[in-house]
Amino acid sequence: MTLITNHMPTAELQALDAAHHMHPFTNGDELNAKGARVITRAKGVTLTDSDGNEILDAMAGLWCVNLGYGRDELAEAAARQMKELPYYNTFFQTTHVPVIALSERLAQLAPGDLNHVFYAGSGSEANDTNIRLVRTYWAQKGKPDKNIIISRKNAYHGSSVGSASLGGMQGMHAQGGLPIPDIHHINQPNWWAEGGDMTPEEFGLARAQELEEAILELGEDRVAAFIGEPVQGAGGVIVPPETYWPEIQRICDKYGILLIADEVICGFGRTGQWFGSQTYGIRPHIMTIAKGLSSGYAPIGGSIVCDEVAEVMNACEFAHGYTYSGHPVACAVALENLRILEEEGIVDRAGSETAPYLKQKWEGLVDHPLVGEAKIAGLMGSIALTPDKATRAQFAADAGTAGLICREECFANNLVMRHVGDRMVISPPLVITKPEIDTLIDRATTALDAAHARLQ
Ligand code: PLP
Repeated sequence: MTLITNHMPTAELQALDAAHHMHPFTNGDELNAKGARVITRAKGVTLTDSDGNEILDAMAGLWCVNLGYGRDELAEAAARQMKELPYYNTFFQTTHVPVIALSERLAQLAPGDLNHVFYAGSGSEANDTNIRLVRTYWAQKGKPDKNIIISRKNAYHGSSVGSASLGGMQGMHAQGGLPIPDIHHINQPNWWAEGGDMTPEEFGLARAQELEEAILELGEDRVAAFIGEPVQGAGGVIVPPETYWPEIQRICDKYGILLIADEVICGFGRTGQWFGSQTYGIRPHIMTIAKGLSSGYAPIGGSIVCDEVAEVMNACEFAHGYTYSGHPVACAVALENLRILEEEGIVDRAGSETAPYLKQKWEGLVDHPLVGEAKIAGLMGSIALTPDKATRAQFAADAGTAGLICREECFANNLVMRHVGDRMVISPPLVITKPEIDTLIDRATTALDAAHARLQ
């Protein structure tokens, strides 16, 4: 057996990785040809790779390291819990202290009467829970046919069969025979790409009203729930026009449709408040959580459920659960993460100081010749790349994805940004400082200049 360590030459690590590790969302041939970037350490907002490069992580990993890297307190909380009770399940009427404490904390933090948590190991699992939960809820109320869930095109709700079906990513549906039955997708509120001649406000209203049209078409007695992220993240940080969410809320209220806010990205400070639902005035019956719940230090997700839904569900045995639902170590890490986010005022500061500073700098990128619009909600932002701002044109597919070129240039400039088609996105750790924001903008501008030159 080879002893594999951080000290091995990068090429050797890459060769071993390509030989035996199948990566998510990665083209295997490209991986073999180029090798993966090997990340060895991280602190704050900075990653270090196996060649010693220091990289500003403007994506907080996968939108999750809200607290920043390298907080010893979380490692210590995990070690303490592992020594005391490394595992016990929460099935069959058993429980343990970390899961009790985390649930109480989440009930305090979550808005309204979202007071009950069903745990999962990830956001995907939590959304799978939601599919079964809302359908079981209506069946319990004597309406077993009320089982259609309405979601949106280009939404991302996870990678499991259920959650990818909820998602609206065509490329994902094409692999593995998705979606599962009784999931219906309406259009997204992406004004830049799809708004045509409408103002953003008119467009937001029109896109929200597609929900009402879908309910009427499918039948009020068939629709169980609507699911949406307050701000679509992996779809390209699509910040909805102001008119969008109030209209969605009105429609859900009018037809008695359960509203699921997928807060996997937006939760725990990302939009400048604890939850995106608070930023956008949404009153969900269920919230999906994961990522920032533990800042990615331990895999944990869940569904926070309102009193009424919990009451109906409590009247039956919900035949659902995961071995790691409410895993004690993950719960202890999440609790410690929430304690630090709150006690150090990280969420408050992100909203009141960091977000306004980032917004001002980020929106300045719109002056770049390649950038059509720059949108930001708290600490998640996107820019749309375009060959012609006036007409909001898209790059031709055979020009290569402008976003991909830009992402490569970012990487070369020691900045991690992601691209979704020709949208470039950021979601840095909430602890990012103003000088680090300046570095982020400088490096992004250098990458945009290089991409612009390559596209001429
Ligand atoms: N929901 C949203 C909004 C997400 O962005 C993600 C992941 O990016 C998920 C669900 C799935 O979470 P996980 O990757 O933890 O399964």
